Amino acid sequence: MKRNFLKASLAGIALAIAGIAPLAHAQDKGPIAISMPTKSSARWIADGANMVKYFKEKGYKTDLQYADDDIPNQLAQIENMVTKGSKVLVIAAIDGTTLSDVLQKAADKGVKVIAYDRLIKGSKNVDYYATFDNFQVGVLQAQSIESALGLKSGKGPFNIELFGGSPDDNNAFFFYNGAMSVLEPYIKSGKLVVRSKQMGMDKVGTLRWDGAVAQARMDNLLSAYYSKDRVDAVLSPYDGLSIGILSSLKGVGYGSASQPMPVVSGQDAEIPSVKSILRKEQTSTVFKDTRELAKVTVAMVDAMLSGKTPEVNDTKTYNNGIKVVPSYLLKPVSVDGGNWKQVLVDSGYYKESQVK
Ligand code: BGC
Repeated sequence: MKRNFLKASLAGIALAIAGIAPLAHAQDKGPIAISMPTKSSARWIADGANMVKYFKEKGYKTDLQYADDDIPNQLAQIENMVTKGSKVLVIAAIDGTTLSDVLQKAADKGVKVIAYDRLIKGSKNVDYYATFDNFQVGVLQAQSIESALGLKSGKGPFNIELFGGSPDDNNAFFFYNGAMSVLEPYIKSGKLVVRSKQMGMDKVGTLRWDGAVAQARMDNLLSAYYSKDRVDAVLSPYDGLSIGILSSLKGVGYGSASQPMPVVSGQDAEIPSVKSILRKEQTSTVFKDTRELAKVTVAMVDAMLSGKTPEVNDTKTYNNGIKVVPSYLLKPVSVDGGNWKQVLVDSGYYKESQVK
């Protein structure tokens, strides 16, 4: 042991003398700061854990923090991370417009910034953006409604209500616009009817992606517009909202043989919602492989810190109001009762026993 240690030390000294730095040992690079919005949704827990794992594999120390969906809390955490000497900030913002000041302080210290999944707006100090094709997420949600209702083969008219994500999250607009690119023609032709007439993110947005807020809005919609008529579909942009919407529907008797559940979409393939799909309550979700997003992000950081240019595949879509942020977009996948096993279990994302 001792002799090996001596050998290794001598080798290190020899390399150092030759002007070559000894190879980095495990976890002596970084630290990389990872600021996540909340632990209330399983996806963000998986995102954080995956990044820590992949950074570690590349020899980076990490500082992972969750902000409880509280904006001042996230600002304070990021400020503290900068003070503690982080080289890079990886941030999934709670409110994408609130970070300009703290990011300026970071930039003044030469800290690099990656917007993780959610775009950071109104700041020039965002180097890269790692995310999914967010417009396509909305397209997939709406296509699952289109196909479950048989709209393409001319069926209808059907009643639909629309839900959007948090208006302070840029993604919410992409999801909504993607979905409307599929649904709007049917609304115009009368094959889909929004009885409440509540359309547009200003009317259908759900602050902080809060399932309880969605549930309360669904309660109101059902009592105001659906005491006689049936609602046939609900566009929901996120599993956590779908759960609230479904419990509101159950509360007035949907989910029985005589009054089947409407078609309800979702996003994130969270376990309670996959279970709900298997019970034939929720219709579909959109799977975004957080392992892949973490890998892309770690590769971006590693490239930046090694003086290389990170790989991107989109340099047009994500204008944050000050600049177009170079982005890497991953592909979302639609999941329903037909393909859940292949997409979620065969890929090793979940064990079958977790969702059954
Ligand atoms: C993410 C979604 C997630 C939502 C709520 C969005 O920014 O892209 O995957 O469902 O936030 O957490």
